[in-house]
Amino acid sequence: MKKLIYGNFKMNSTLLDIEKYTETFIPKVSLSKNEIAIFPPFTYLMFAKQKLTSSKILLGAQNVSSESKGAFTGEVSAQMLKSVGVDIVLIGHSERRKLFLEKNEIINKKIKEALSLGLKVVLCVGETKSERLNNRYTEVIQKEISEGLKGLYENELKNIIIAYEPIWSIGTGVVPEVKQIEEVVKIIKTEISNEYSLNASKNAKILYGGSVNAINAKSFASIPGIGGLLVGGASLNPEEFAKICNI
Ligand code: PEP
Repeated sequence: MKKLIYGNFKMNSTLLDIEKYTETFIPKVSLSKNEIAIFPPFTYLMFAKQKLTSSKILLGAQNVSSESKGAFTGEVSAQMLKSVGVDIVLIGHSERRKLFLEKNEIINKKIKEALSLGLKVVLCVGETKSERLNNRYTEVIQKEISEGLKGLYENELKNIIIAYEPIWSIGTGVVPEVKQIEEVVKIIKTEISNEYSLNASKNAKILYGGSVNAINAKSFASIPGIGGLLVGGASLNPEEFAKICNI
């Protein structure tokens, strides 16, 4: 079955790196049946779009403004992303939540803004190490979903993908056990079922992210209910990311 394999470059790469990356990466994944997307920094989106036109690879942005236009220095709107050919946007990544103090309320505004322009959204959720150790992960994830999706109609969920990224696993090499991921898949599906319907919960697309690499990718992608992977560090190497995309 087709998996969604998304690569978040974070604040890495130069223009030249993106050029070399796409030249190496695109031919290596040309036969992949999976849905692949790369999320370069804003500055390279237009350039990356030109490079990707000959492929089926989607273009993602790492963030979007909660405002639609105007006096918001330094912000990038959903309309701007759409106009340069962006397909998907990451919203609520744990680095945005922790370092830039983004709360669920602003994340909800960003989601609505992105959806209104026809962008697909990856809503990132996940608990810190202390929330896991104190058994608070269920309530944290439920809140991130219910407040993040507040006010959205069920038919809008088709453009929302939920990425479960335990914060203690991001960039650490420490990965959850399969049964921990399975439990969170259930938590996410139950929350969507409670907020919407059983049908919406069955159709929910859920990704796993956190220290995924070419060796462990297949085992995470095979977990029931996991529809794909969100890859950070390992997506920066085109050879390694291509292996992950070809699982
Ligand atoms: C991420 O930041 O979304 C991520 C999954 O990072 P890494 O793969 O490096 O853990």
